[in-house]
Amino acid sequence: MPELPEVETTRRGIAPHVSGRRVVRVDVYDPRLRWPVPADLDARMRGLTIDRVDRRSKYLLLRLGEAALLVHLGMTGTLRIHRDPPARGKHDHVDIALDDGTLLRYRDPRRFGAMLWLARADDGHPLLDTLGPEPFDAAFDARYLWRTTRARSASIKLVLMDNRVVTGVGNIYANEALYRAGIRPATRANRLSKARLARLVDAVRDVLHAAIAKGGSTLRDYVGSDGAAGYFQLDYFVYGREGTPCRVCGTPIRRSRIGQRSSFHCPQCQRP
Ligand SMILES: [Zn+2]
Repeated sequence: MPELPEVETTRRGIAPHVSGRRVVRVDVYDPRLRWPVPADLDARMRGLTIDRVDRRSKYLLLRLGEAALLVHLGMTGTLRIHRDPPARGKHDHVDIALDDGTLLRYRDPRRFGAMLWLARADDGHPLLDTLGPEPFDAAFDARYLWRTTRARSASIKLVLMDNRVVTGVGNIYANEALYRAGIRPATRANRLSKARLARLVDAVRDVLHAAIAKGGSTLRDYVGSDGAAGYFQLDYFVYGREGTPCRVCGTPIRRSRIGQRSSFHCPQCQRP
């Protein structure tokens, strides 16, 4: 499933090819995504220029004047740039043709993604309005996290994955950040000191930066390729490594379940 680094990599991959380009045609072949793709998308977008591509949490926002096309990749969605597009496959649901012949194609085999039209993007949208700060925002710092967690006895991992606290930290990166910060996933959030939360803030940023940097090497996959999603994997320290030795101390990594999701930790390197 695309997490924040994959979405940011997609943004960086497509932005140079669509920014400043005018939309000449939109073909919606199958509107049945998580919510229906607007039937009149062609009429709304045709003739408008894509000013830039922004990301908010795991949503991409193609800005067209005061409007925006909001795109969520769901479980299996991809956006690709084609100069010489191959024939449409059965999982290619939306094509956006641009004035220089470029085609932006949305593919999504499982159709959990979304493509919605925001006529006035500045007015916000219910999907965006409740989101907390971005992990890279200055607002997400140790003081903020300390204040936010004082009344929360839930595990720090669940708090970290709560989009209202900080956006875009999914299961993989929550596990990895907690390892780097030396904090066990099940630790109650309100038991953590400000110093440990400061380490966690740094760890969240480090692990996301590392993943985005790794994604940079896949950017060419976003142009002209008709292959698989091409998502990239960090060399994880704990995620998916149950029973294998910790890369630092050799202790077997343990798995537990927190809020229905698999959690992984090293009992030696991570303290409650
Ligand atoms: Zn260890």
